[in-house]
Amino acid sequence: MTAQQETAPALDALRGALGPGAISTTADDRRRASTDRSGHLPDGLPRAVVRPRSADEVAATLAWAGTHRVPVVPRGAGTGLAGGATAGDGSVVLDLTRLNRILEIRPDDALAVVEPGVITADLDLAARAHGLRYAPDPASADLSTIGGNIATNAGGLRCVKYGVTRDAVLGLDVVLADGTRLRTGRETVKGVAGYDLTSLITGSEGTLAVVVGATLRLQPVPARTGTATAHFASPHAAAAACAAVLDAGLRPSVLEFLDAATLEAVARLRGEPLAGDASFVLAQTDGFAADAEIEAVGAILRRTALRAEVTADPVAAEDLLRTRRQALPAIERLGRVLIEDIAVPRSRLAEAAEALTALSAATGVRIFTFAHAGDGNIHPIVLADHADPAAVRAAVGEIFRLALRLGGTISGEHGVGALKRAWLEAEVGAPALALQRRVKHAFDPLGVLNPGKAL
Ligand SMILES: Cc1cc2nc3c(=O)[nH]c(=O)nc-3n(C[C@H](O)[C@H](O)[C@H](O)COP(=O)(O)OP(=O)(O)OC[C@H]3O[C@@H](n4cnc5c(N)ncnc54)[C@H](O)[C@@H]3O)c2cc1C
Repeated sequence: MTAQQETAPALDALRGALGPGAISTTADDRRRASTDRSGHLPDGLPRAVVRPRSADEVAATLAWAGTHRVPVVPRGAGTGLAGGATAGDGSVVLDLTRLNRILEIRPDDALAVVEPGVITADLDLAARAHGLRYAPDPASADLSTIGGNIATNAGGLRCVKYGVTRDAVLGLDVVLADGTRLRTGRETVKGVAGYDLTSLITGSEGTLAVVVGATLRLQPVPARTGTATAHFASPHAAAAACAAVLDAGLRPSVLEFLDAATLEAVARLRGEPLAGDASFVLAQTDGFAADAEIEAVGAILRRTALRAEVTADPVAAEDLLRTRRQALPAIERLGRVLIEDIAVPRSRLAEAAEALTALSAATGVRIFTFAHAGDGNIHPIVLADHADPAAVRAAVGEIFRLALRLGGTISGEHGVGALKRAWLEAEVGAPALALQRRVKHAFDPLGVLNPGKAL
């Protein structure tokens, strides 16, 4: 009997529990749902893709999975960069994109209630009709889902001032591995009753529970925005200038860094003239004092920059943000890439930038670097197409060691997924890892929810 024939009766049982058209077993669907934007390929293909239309169908799928001991991989838009949504042989992909309604926006309480399949940028746009916005803005916001953002605790450009996804999540509706539905958190800004399950599930990469609804904090659209750009002679000088901005007590809402190679890749993608061998910093300020604050940011950048400019033109500002968001797609055009995501304390940012330049020079492995500089979150993008694969592996290992040596982390925002598990113990330590495994067991004793990820 083939594996497909063996699983057919089990899948028939699930078909009976869900509405028509909820399960796909076509080879194309299974192949597409087996991987994510990390490019990681698991062993084999999932046996089916389930696309529930309601939380009840999610609960029915998980209850079925427990009975038949089938691994379930929750999936949003599949833009993840750590292999968290990759699904191998025997598993079932739980695609949540049909649960895509914005259920409520409550301007008085500055909150939104949404389903997990809502696209991040769509929520932001809907909030704007009420003078509000959804602050966490990963560069993938036009594609990624709120459920995926919650599961990865995604960061973004505005997080330096407004915090990461976890800071925007007030409460969650979830389905546990055994099919139980429950609500965590609250609608109030404050609240300390009980353990903070909302924060625990946020960032748990689909291994503790499936998010079927979220109550999210919104922020007022700022009255004004100011934008500054600056070019620097070296990544070290650019990173040091970013740290100087924050040391001066300024609170930019965006503080991003692109090294010269990344800036060149973006210019080529956009068909624009090259900026020469210069690293680039993009800063924004917002709020009633945005104009005064951006002048202060500009003055600090000018102290060490080759050149710097300040603009209040919103069209120019939006185009600059787009430049930043194009960094990863621009590099991906140049070949197969390994996308890293370390973070260091911001006082060590310049040291990290310098070490990455030195690492690339010493190994001959091309490393492009861009960063959410205000958060100390650096994305070293390693070109994997190299004559010596061992040199590439060694360079990646060196990047993780660098992060830990500087008191940082192996992942600032993409998650551990399937790709960084070997490094987790080095960061959190054996006792903490063992405790995390006990937490996983308490939520999911049969181990059916996204096994082999995050821990
Ligand atoms: C061009 C580009 C730019 C990016 N920029 C950023 C950035 O600035 N900041 C950043 O943080 N990330 C960034 N990312 C990574 C990615 O977009 C984020 O990790 C995003 O949060 C993933 O959302 P998704 O809907 O695609 O989730 P998926 O990739 O489908 O899934 C990601 C993880 O979430 C789990 N999951 C998904 N939905 C649910 C659910 N409803 N319940 C439980 N678990 C679930 C999956 O099992 C998986 O572990 C970028 C990616 C790309 C391609």
